[in-house]
Amino acid sequence: MYRSHTCGEIRMSHVDQEVTLSGWVHKTRDKGFVVWVDLRDRYGITQLVFDEERTDKSLLEKAKSLGREFVVQVKGSVIERTSKNGNIPTGDIEVLVTQLTILNTSQTPPFTIEDNTDGGEDLRMKYRYIDIRRNPVKENLIFRSKVAIEVRKYLAEEGFIEVETPYLIKSTPEGARDFVVPSRMNEGQFYALPQSPQTFKQLLMVGGLDKYFQIVKCFRDEDLRADRQPEFTQIDCEMAFVEQEDILNAFEGLTRHLLKEIKGIDTGDFPRMTFDDAMKKYGNDKPDIRFGMEFGELNEVAQHKDFNVFNASELVVGIAVPGAASYTRKQIDALIDWVKRPQVGAKGMVYVKCNEDGTYKSSVDKFYDQDDLAKWAEKTGAKAGDLICVLSGKTNHTRAQLSALRMELAERLELRNPNEFAPLWVIDFPLLELDEETGHYHAMHHPFTSPKPGQLELLDTEPGAVKANAYDLVLNGNEIGGGSIRIHDKEIQSIMFKHLGFTPEEAKAQFGFLMDAFEYGAPPHGGIAFGLDRLVSILGGQETIRDFIAFPKNNSGRDVMIDAPATIDEEQLKELNLKLDL
Ligand code: ASP
Repeated sequence: MYRSHTCGEIRMSHVDQEVTLSGWVHKTRDKGFVVWVDLRDRYGITQLVFDEERTDKSLLEKAKSLGREFVVQVKGSVIERTSKNGNIPTGDIEVLVTQLTILNTSQTPPFTIEDNTDGGEDLRMKYRYIDIRRNPVKENLIFRSKVAIEVRKYLAEEGFIEVETPYLIKSTPEGARDFVVPSRMNEGQFYALPQSPQTFKQLLMVGGLDKYFQIVKCFRDEDLRADRQPEFTQIDCEMAFVEQEDILNAFEGLTRHLLKEIKGIDTGDFPRMTFDDAMKKYGNDKPDIRFGMEFGELNEVAQHKDFNVFNASELVVGIAVPGAASYTRKQIDALIDWVKRPQVGAKGMVYVKCNEDGTYKSSVDKFYDQDDLAKWAEKTGAKAGDLICVLSGKTNHTRAQLSALRMELAERLELRNPNEFAPLWVIDFPLLELDEETGHYHAMHHPFTSPKPGQLELLDTEPGAVKANAYDLVLNGNEIGGGSIRIHDKEIQSIMFKHLGFTPEEAKAQFGFLMDAFEYGAPPHGGIAFGLDRLVSILGGQETIRDFIAFPKNNSGRDVMIDAPATIDEEQLKELNLKLDL
């Protein structure tokens, strides 16, 4: 038996008991006549003691030979410590060792196994298995497991069936590139790794399974943006015989259950907002509603004077920054520089200080009087002491820029409290999205999403205006889930493919199996998928998903520990009938 107890559980009530412990040597303190060893395992740290008076000489010598991260087993008796350590739960006791077995030695680890380690990011990634020994990483993985188990418990209780769908498939378009896998047995042919199990879960509904879920890996070959992983995990769900309302209720239930079980937070009904409103009020389809600073559109009250910048703009829009009227010239200039950064892209920023005495001082006083500015304050909800920041230009761009500024200011003003949870359904997404570069429309969610009833006709005349039965669940400014009611009619699906630029032949080649299935009694169905990595990190009060993934990839999509991706040898290439022309 390697251990009778863990290193985290021994207390005063165990004094005088014989125990066997196994773990890693966290630290040794050698005072010559006495050696203390902190023994660590997943559960905690227990102090071991060896001394001249009570320990035999060879054992004391052996204790002195222990290095950091050696794996050892000890037997001994629990004794009360003379000087107690109030900082750890086992701090009242220590184990007087009578037997010590070295189970394995260790090289000196490349960084300290402390909460605040001296190891940089790259080093920790390379030795991730050592990094996992540190509390913060270990706790995050345990936390993730707890969330996943709660998800399974809840959905199983609600009658969902967990089904595994294949990884070696044909492209399922979710808007990214596919990772492809060459087939040895089928020369010149490739599998695609699923960007999601979308088509399979729909086929499960045709199969009559009715309520499906899966905690599943998805693969998307995207240019890596910060905090995206090429492989990530979804809680993927689908239901048959449902309308949008049924899906929203079912998964509001799941989210509420998680907030309750994991965070101890009771949430009422989740608010809902249409996509159009979200864009108008927050410039963003995933607004963080933990704080205000809602947009105030100012066209009506700002385009009647001689200020040409505004007059020539499609949209003039502002936000009231609480308490920022006291910003110095320098602080405001810094804000202006911030919105002009290429990542944000604004041309400039107009501002109005709402003075405590009820007067206004703006950067456009030449054009606007106190009455005008009072109207701006009213539209943006600004109070005395606030600063109104105004941007203008093309509607979409200006909204995106002001949204970026709103989030940045909220961060600076510490309005994004990680212990507060503000879920929000965003509904009525457009069905199609215009690609400004190509001038083509593509599916905003995916090609299987159904238009709202009665809107099909609009596809020919005003494609951008068609709304979909599509919804996102937003938590604290992050999209944690998204889904839609699907098309289950072959004709409508063909019309959709046509509008997305597929020829009938292309549609048949790529999605013939789905269209065929629709001819054999496909029930009305819909679903949703949650991003587990992101959900877990937000519930954990952090925003970096990498910290909640056991073996993440770095920003260039590499696993630096196993050194992947890597080249393969000639022989393998030949077997796969692949020729590299580098
Ligand atoms: N397959 C979709 C996605 O990955 C989710 C869904 O529509 O259920 O975003």
